[in-house]
Amino acid sequence: MTTFHFGDISVTRIEESLHPVFDPFKFLPDYDPDLVAPHMDWFAPNHFDPQSGRLVVSMHSWLVRTAQHTILIDTCVGDHTHMPGLPAYHMQQFPYLENLAAAGVQPEEIDYVLCTHLHSDHVGWHTRLVDGRHVPTFPNARYVISKTEFDNAAASENAEDNNGAFLNRIMPVVDAGLSELVSGDHGIGDHLTITPAPGHTPGHVAMRLSNAGENGLFIGDAMHSAIQGAFPDWNSAFCQDPDQARATRRGLLEHCCEHNALLLPQHFGIPYATRVRAKGDAFAFDFMP
Ligand SMILES: [Zn+2]
Repeated sequence: MTTFHFGDISVTRIEESLHPVFDPFKFLPDYDPDLVAPHMDWFAPNHFDPQSGRLVVSMHSWLVRTAQHTILIDTCVGDHTHMPGLPAYHMQQFPYLENLAAAGVQPEEIDYVLCTHLHSDHVGWHTRLVDGRHVPTFPNARYVISKTEFDNAAASENAEDNNGAFLNRIMPVVDAGLSELVSGDHGIGDHLTITPAPGHTPGHVAMRLSNAGENGLFIGDAMHSAIQGAFPDWNSAFCQDPDQARATRRGLLEHCCEHNALLLPQHFGIPYATRVRAKGDAFAFDFMP
C-alpha cells in the first residue's frame, strides 16, 4: 500500500485495479510512437505495456487522513457497473472496500467524499448495490461536488449516458441529503482546498493540500498518462474543451514546480505520484531522466 506524508497528514492510495487497458492511439489522439520511443526506458513497463501495446491504467482513490477528517478523493469504477465497451471494468466486483479496510478505514468513518469530476470511473463507489438498489456507500460523509459539474451533468445526461453514473451514483447521494454543491475555491478543513481546473470536463476541479511546509496537488483527469508530462499538449480523447484542458494541465504542472508539490493523479501507474520539474517547454517527473 502506497502512502505519502505531508507533516502529520497521510495520503494513501486505495487500489481498485491496475492493468494495461487503453489503446494509446485511441486514448491520446496525438500519440506518436516515434516521439515516445526515446522515453521508453522510463515509460515501460510501469506506464506502458510493450506486450499488449496498451497504456497502463491505475484506478484508485486517495485516502487523506488529517487530525480533523478522513477524506476520500474520487471513488473509481464501482461494483456491477455496466461498461460493455471496457471488459476490464464491466460488471466487476473489485475488492475496493476490502482494500479500504486494509488501510484501517470502514465506510462509516469517511467524513468527506470529494470528486474531481463526474465521469463514471470517478464516482463508482459513491454508492453500492444493495438488494438491487444503489445506496450511499459512505453514510456519514458529505459528498462534495462541483456545482458546474453537477449542473452540466444534470442538463446533459440521460439515464444511459456516462455508464448510468448520474442516475446510479450521484442522485442517490443527493436524494439522501448527503451532497454539497460548491463553486470557486472551497476549503475542506484547514489543509485542503478545492479549486476549479476545467477542460477535461466543464466543472472539473483539483485539490491543493498544504501542511507543515509540504504540498500536494490532486489533479483528477487533467492528466491520464505520465507521457503527458513530456507532451503536455496531448489531450485525451475525452477532454471536452481541448484548449482549456491544455491550459489547465500546464497550469497545474507549473503549480507543482513552483510549490514543490507532489502531483497526485488518478490514473498513473507505479509510483502513482511524482514531483515535477520544468524541462524546456515541457515537464519531467522524478522517475524520468
Ligand atoms: Zn478517469
